Amino acid sequence: MPRYRPLSLPRVPLAQQLTANLIPDPVTPTPAALVATPISFPSLLRRARAVRDGAHFSYVSPLPLPFPYDIPVDAQMDRNERIEQTLRTYEAPMPPYGEAHAAPVAPGRRTPPYPDARLVAFSPDTHATCVPHLDVGDTAAWIASTSGQVAASSGPSLGLDEAALYGEAVPGHEAQARQALSEWASGRAVCITFDPAYRVSESDGAGVHFLARDEVPEKNIKEALSALHASQRSLDTAKTHAPWSLRYGGHQFGEWAGQLGDGRAVSLLETQHPTTGARWDVQLKGAGRTPYSRFADGLATLKSSVREFLASEYMTALQIPTSRALCVVSLPATRVERERVQTAALTLRLASSWLRIGNFEIHSNRGEWESVRVLGEYVARELFGWTDVVKGASDAPRRPWAQRLVREVGERNARTWALWQVYGFMHGVLNTDNIALLGETIDYGPYGFMDVFDEDRACNHSDWMHRYTYRQQPAMLLFAIERLYDALAPLIGFEEVHERAPQPGELLAASAQDVALWADAAEAHRASVCTAVEDTMHRAWEHGWAQRLGIRTKAASIKELVLSLLEALRGLDMTHALRALCTLDLDAVQEQAAARILVERSAPPGTDVGEAERALTAWLPTYKAWRARDPRDSAEVRASMCAFNPSFVLRNWLIDEVTERLEQANDTAFLERVRSLCAHPFDDQTDAELGRIGVPLHERLPSCSS
Ligand code: AMP
Ligand code: MG
Repeated sequence: MPRYRPLSLPRVPLAQQLTANLIPDPVTPTPAALVATPISFPSLLRRARAVRDGAHFSYVSPLPLPFPYDIPVDAQMDRNERIEQTLRTYEAPMPPYGEAHAAPVAPGRRTPPYPDARLVAFSPDTHATCVPHLDVGDTAAWIASTSGQVAASSGPSLGLDEAALYGEAVPGHEAQARQALSEWASGRAVCITFDPAYRVSESDGAGVHFLARDEVPEKNIKEALSALHASQRSLDTAKTHAPWSLRYGGHQFGEWAGQLGDGRAVSLLETQHPTTGARWDVQLKGAGRTPYSRFADGLATLKSSVREFLASEYMTALQIPTSRALCVVSLPATRVERERVQTAALTLRLASSWLRIGNFEIHSNRGEWESVRVLGEYVARELFGWTDVVKGASDAPRRPWAQRLVREVGERNARTWALWQVYGFMHGVLNTDNIALLGETIDYGPYGFMDVFDEDRACNHSDWMHRYTYRQQPAMLLFAIERLYDALAPLIGFEEVHERAPQPGELLAASAQDVALWADAAEAHRASVCTAVEDTMHRAWEHGWAQRLGIRTKAASIKELVLSLLEALRGLDMTHALRALCTLDLDAVQEQAAARILVERSAPPGTDVGEAERALTAWLPTYKAWRARDPRDSAEVRASMCAFNPSFVLRNWLIDEVTERLEQANDTAFLERVRSLCAHPFDDQTDAELGRIGVPLHERLPSCSS
């Protein structure tokens, strides 16, 4: 299989690319405009603003610098001009005329104070399963060999030429390939291409032009139309490429919060697995300010990056749909201010798509129905693969898709969320901007894996209303799917009334009354969509639990059995209790003795074990009756259960320990040890020290500072 350096990684066919299908921010409507803006008005790329005109995304380039930017003022130059001049040195430079791509590394990024980057984490599994055609060189070995060396830098850009970044893999050049990966993953080098015949001028940068436009307060239908035409521009002229950030809004903790993001994530490109064809949107998180950053810095902490990296490894091993992480790059010299000052880092992460419910809501909330249509057709056709859906202008019959789309998003997420419940995963921020259309788990902000079972646990300290507790999460999915239904309601109603999907432009001509009538017509189907989502979740939940409990019968519901088990597990470590259950030969052990073993293996110090033993003793006979219906040999059942009951659970204190050791001593070996446990959670516990419950780790392991 040919392998490619990052900047030449093959992209999905042009007609299927996100940026060729969706509507760009009118301030930087093309990659050429992105490269031209730094000439005129570079701060425009980093300013928070309300992006309008029905745009779905903005072209951006990563720039992970601390914010507010530390730009020295001097007496010779106007302060604003000094800011523009400094930013200009960091932005992607103009290529010489006649060349197809922008030079990958801007002069300002080659020299201090631009921060050095250091690869600290790498997932061989993500590499092998998602992007085996990416040349990563000696990355894993380099990370291992530099563990404990606090001064190691994985890829100084000095001396790394374009061939290193763009070329095909060269045997014997593993170090260079790793440096190229480091440059890419730290946002220092990205690929921006555009038609070489196109002569970029300063006015393409749209800066001054934008300021004039911004004084027009009302959304103008002509502008919306021209944005629409831009979105359907001939694919020829779209033969260009630049990174982008998505525009989305969301309901946060139940309330509409307006335009939110993406404030710190930049998608670099979409690629496909060379043999399976699986599609991956490769993204940097913590890549610096974008137009969506609002008041924040666009950066991510090392701790949050490590949390995301480890969680996505663990979720993958549990076979729960999730975004993936390829590597984490720390910026040791870059400090970010949160509750305390921390080290900055970037995660190179992948998802089939990063589009979320909030990507629809931002448009519906502003009456940008045409943008809802364009986005919906793209999702239905390119991401769900519904070939009966017509995209853009065409004479083909326009089959309805809007209601189907809501149901599909709901059912995909229902299957994922059911598994969250079965494996005790709690997402801390189930706002509609964190719920992926394709049903992958995204956004590992605050999260937790249940250890000592408590259904009322919420794992986000800013969730003071306890909206997202373990118990509440299924109901929160229905809330979110209803918000998606709201966002598509006028289109669902249109399809009902006209028995076809809307044509391009048709919704632009609709009056407010039309839209209201269509939205009313959609109400007839709301309940059936919600019921379908609930049913799917319930079936997936029963299926997941049946696997964990080794029950194969489909004849009857195991709901009561599971609910009574959860009741009995209260106060016990969920993972350890269930793992212990797979090792018990229930034919050979009396119920009371069995209950005692389960409790011994799963009770944290200080638990009232009597109560837990009584509850499990009462539960076991019903469970045994279920197992007795299975003709399989008990040993065979137990072996099958081991593949669904992890012996390792990723606990929060473990993540804290990993981060502390990285920050203090670049202890990548410890991170790798935890990653490996995350990747093989069903193996018999080989690392008892890290697998135990309850007691904070630092009481058992020598501190890394000692
Ligand atoms: P979250 O609640 O973490 O999903 O974040 C909501 C939105 O805020 C997302 O669009 C993020 O991109 C944005 N955001 C969060 N943290 C930052 C940050 N440090 N800088 C810029 N944007 C951020
Ligand atoms: Mg988010």
